[in-house]
Amino acid sequence: MTCCKCAEYEWADPQEVVYTDPEGKGYCVFHAPLYEKRISNDDFNKRVFERLRESKLFEGSGRFCDLSGVVFPQEIKFQQVGQFPKVRFNSACFEGFADFSEVDFGGFALFKETIFSQGASLSEAKFNGVAYFGKTEFRDYVYFNSIKFNNRSVFSRVEAVYGIDFTDCVFGGKSNFESIDDGKCKFHFFNCIISNSGIDVIGCNPKTIDFINQYDITNIHFINSPWEKNGCIEACTEGKKDLLQPTRDFYQRMKAKYKAENNEYEASKWHIAEKEAQLKLLWREAKDWSLCPWTQEQGEDQEYFQWEDVRSGSRWLGGKASEFLTCFVLWLYKVSSGFGEKPVRGLCWLLLLLVLPYFFPGDMREYIPLMQRNIANASSVLKSFEMAGWQLLITIQAALFAFALRNRFRR
Ligand SMILES: [Zn+2]
Repeated sequence: MTCCKCAEYEWADPQEVVYTDPEGKGYCVFHAPLYEKRISNDDFNKRVFERLRESKLFEGSGRFCDLSGVVFPQEIKFQQVGQFPKVRFNSACFEGFADFSEVDFGGFALFKETIFSQGASLSEAKFNGVAYFGKTEFRDYVYFNSIKFNNRSVFSRVEAVYGIDFTDCVFGGKSNFESIDDGKCKFHFFNCIISNSGIDVIGCNPKTIDFINQYDITNIHFINSPWEKNGCIEACTEGKKDLLQPTRDFYQRMKAKYKAENNEYEASKWHIAEKEAQLKLLWREAKDWSLCPWTQEQGEDQEYFQWEDVRSGSRWLGGKASEFLTCFVLWLYKVSSGFGEKPVRGLCWLLLLLVLPYFFPGDMREYIPLMQRNIANASSVLKSFEMAGWQLLITIQAALFAFALRNRFRR
């Protein structure tokens, strides 16, 4: 009798049975359930290392080391194996810590549906062949720093309870992040080096991937992402108060990247996202009264009236007024023309401004520019201000509309 799991995972070398379950199914030492190994953890790990070393001898014949479906009962450290052969960990389950740090994967390394129940580390590992993580589950912390992906790497539907931080990793080959869409922020990029082959983020909810600490984003491409479908960009970090500024900077970098690629269509969307974040930032600063000098605790030495207080107070008030004004102007820019990107909105406001004077007292043409009505002939000073103000509004809105229209046709 041979192991049922060796048959299920189509091992080229089915192993002998060490445990038979109540249903009569036989399991080899690799596939036996957690507490049925009948072997110490050290001995089990030695068997795994032997298997990896043996497979290296057959390299060139296309053979790879099959560890699919293996149940690793406790902690395992792979450093002593030396360079790995081509290896398959599909559907394997690591019940203890899996330490792949500094491991040199000589050929492809497949982790399809692999489960890491405890922590795992791939720090400073080197993948010379394809690295494939598909439906891989990381149920505890996992370390992904300083990894070198020298070949293709694929991350598809990966689950990671505590997220994955790609810190100082090198993506030398094409890399794909696919169909990651549960809305949780889980992939963080910190200062990675991304080659010209680039990273394609395909069909992912962009809220799951955080690029705010990834300064070089030249070779990152979003393909078929919900951002493109609904046109509204909002990174997962935008809602976090202390991350709003870096999020805005990220939008700005993305806008610059698309401008450099002459992709005005994408640049426009990132421009809107950047301005939205800018507006939020300005509003936050404007309504922050914590630095108001009159609400600060007064020290004992300040119980007498001091001109210095009045000066610093009025400076603060001036600054506050300017913050509110900037915020208000940016908000008007948004409402009137979608930050210069929405000509239809611009046109609607323009038409409204042209039609409203119909309901004003007097001749409606007095309020519309280029109608040969002289403001100097107005019946009162107030009336002339009304006329001039309204004409100015129409002129500005017409300019905004033309600007937005130009932006649209530039694409
Ligand atoms: Zn087996």
